Amino acid sequence: MKKLLLLLCAAVFFSALLAPGAPPIKAMILDGEQGGPYHAWQETTPYLKKMLEDAGIFQVDVVTAPPPGGDFSAFRPEWGKYQVVIGNYDAPDGRWPPELMAAFEEYIRNGGGFVSVHAADNAFPKWPEYNLMIGIGGWRGRNEASGPMWYFKDGRLVSDDSPGPAGGHGSRLAFKMVDQVTDHPITKGLPKEWMHVPDELYAKMRGPGKNMTVLATAYSTPSNRGTDRDEPILMVLSYGKGRIFHTTLGHDLAALDCAGFITTYQRGAEWAATGKVTQKVPADFPTAEKAVTRPSYDPPQGWVSPPAPRRPPAK
Ligand code: ZN
Repeated sequence: MKKLLLLLCAAVFFSALLAPGAPPIKAMILDGEQGGPYHAWQETTPYLKKMLEDAGIFQVDVVTAPPPGGDFSAFRPEWGKYQVVIGNYDAPDGRWPPELMAAFEEYIRNGGGFVSVHAADNAFPKWPEYNLMIGIGGWRGRNEASGPMWYFKDGRLVSDDSPGPAGGHGSRLAFKMVDQVTDHPITKGLPKEWMHVPDELYAKMRGPGKNMTVLATAYSTPSNRGTDRDEPILMVLSYGKGRIFHTTLGHDLAALDCAGFITTYQRGAEWAATGKVTQKVPADFPTAEKAVTRPSYDPPQGWVSPPAPRRPPAK
């Protein structure tokens, strides 16, 4: 009898996590490589996984790609099993065999969802289809051939095709996010302005920018080696029937406990998977004046951010 009661309690508990009748959204977090130790995917993936699980509507698997130099011939993620793939992955051109690239393109084109987190937009500068999905990217040799720089001016998206490298950021300081589109499912109900915790503010990002809507920007201040422009930070894109949510936020664990990051990531993942957002805006969402962190996502005691990037000067 006691056993039965326990089973019943467990059943009630687990069913309460999910909306009645709604099957969980199947999500894959793809990791396994980043541009350097400063993007510690081994550290960040468990946090990105917990965020989705805590939303109560996702079932999450982690798929880890072979390391640099590894054998990709047997790496065949079952894309079709998932409604959304989270890219916590940054690799150079040539890392993926053509069949793997084609399978991923087909998955997104046929309606798969993709979420590009932070340096996933550094990956694959010369893979045209990937760059169509993410809209803009930085580093790894990107320049004017990758597309113009995109930014916001007088309330609308503009581009600048002057030559130069792509990608830049100053020191990791807190900055204010400005929602440029407030009626998209991801941003609906959020404050128009909200503070993000110290993080890299990506700037000078280049790419095709096709089928791209910039949902939120942040001002890149010259006092922190910035561009004096409102840089795109949260974007949505379409690629065939696929939906993409792109957030440039989330450099390290110190950036991932931001209630604003967590909320926009959870909502962006649901939207990329289903085209809708059923999650309510949480009571602790940051305001224009104050960043808010969630203690359950704080970095572990004694944690220090991995060494800063040592990138060669861009040419
Ligand atoms: Zn970074």
